[in-house]
Amino acid sequence: MLRKYDYYDRSKLLVSYDYNKKLLPNTGRPVEQLRYSKIIGSHMYVMSCTRPDIAFVVGMLSRFTSNPGKLHWDVVQRLMRYLKGTTDIWQVVAKPGDSWMWKQLIRTRDKAMALCGGENNLKLLISSCCKNSKLRISAIYNALLHSTNEVQWTKVVWGRLNIPKHSFISCLVFQDRLLTKDRLYRRGIINSNLCSLCDGACSESRNHLFFECAFSCEVWNSIMDWMDFNWRACHWHHVLEWFTVRQRGKGLKQLLKNLALTATIYYIWRERNVRIFQQKYRSTTQLIREIETDIWITILNNPLAR
Ligand SMILES: [Zn+2]
Repeated sequence: MLRKYDYYDRSKLLVSYDYNKKLLPNTGRPVEQLRYSKIIGSHMYVMSCTRPDIAFVVGMLSRFTSNPGKLHWDVVQRLMRYLKGTTDIWQVVAKPGDSWMWKQLIRTRDKAMALCGGENNLKLLISSCCKNSKLRISAIYNALLHSTNEVQWTKVVWGRLNIPKHSFISCLVFQDRLLTKDRLYRRGIINSNLCSLCDGACSESRNHLFFECAFSCEVWNSIMDWMDFNWRACHWHHVLEWFTVRQRGKGLKQLLKNLALTATIYYIWRERNVRIFQQKYRSTTQLIREIETDIWITILNNPLAR
């Protein structure tokens, strides 16, 4: 707007209006009335979108749109200089002639604001990542990663090739809402929190079942081998990061990876329940075969995967 109305080269001001001055109606001929009304219209747009701080002055100037005088134009000029003086990183817009680096910076700022739900939320997040007045970049990265995961994991769980019952259990796992033994034990509902899948004396939790447990780890590693994944991760936070942040694209390869993850989660949870409630035990080999069969059947029956 400053460029459009030729105010960009004016000096900066940090106060928008001299509150000791009273704006009176113009008694003479109107001065550039059309240009004045256009400028006020632009100011109103800016005010309602990003700059509520200019609302008072714009509201006052708008009363003289039909007959602006020199005095009103002086206030407009002052307001323009104030906007220039207070334009900061949060309001800057990339222009065609700007450097690549600058455009990347603005793009990153916009992405971060979108992830956090607006400028104010991002500012709050940044201030919460300060320790002893020093900004911790790692804390910002982790906080933004969390926001990304929140948005992205639903795409993994509800992938187009996924089987609904697999998606449902996986959804609870991603939200950490499965009633695992550690949770029931803490509430005093059961007497033992030991994992039913492995022989080790490990507490059954979401992160243990997927896939720190020796049993689950063997199953998941075999499925990753079979699917020819070029990475390995048996810790939940790594799996989550791989699927929600690092995995790129929306192609068949990604859909199959999502199918493999949700199927493995489902079969591990089912095996855990069968062991507890029916005292039936299957080996890792049997479980792996069942998961592979499910994946094959889905591929053969789905036109997307053929
Ligand atoms: Zn275990």
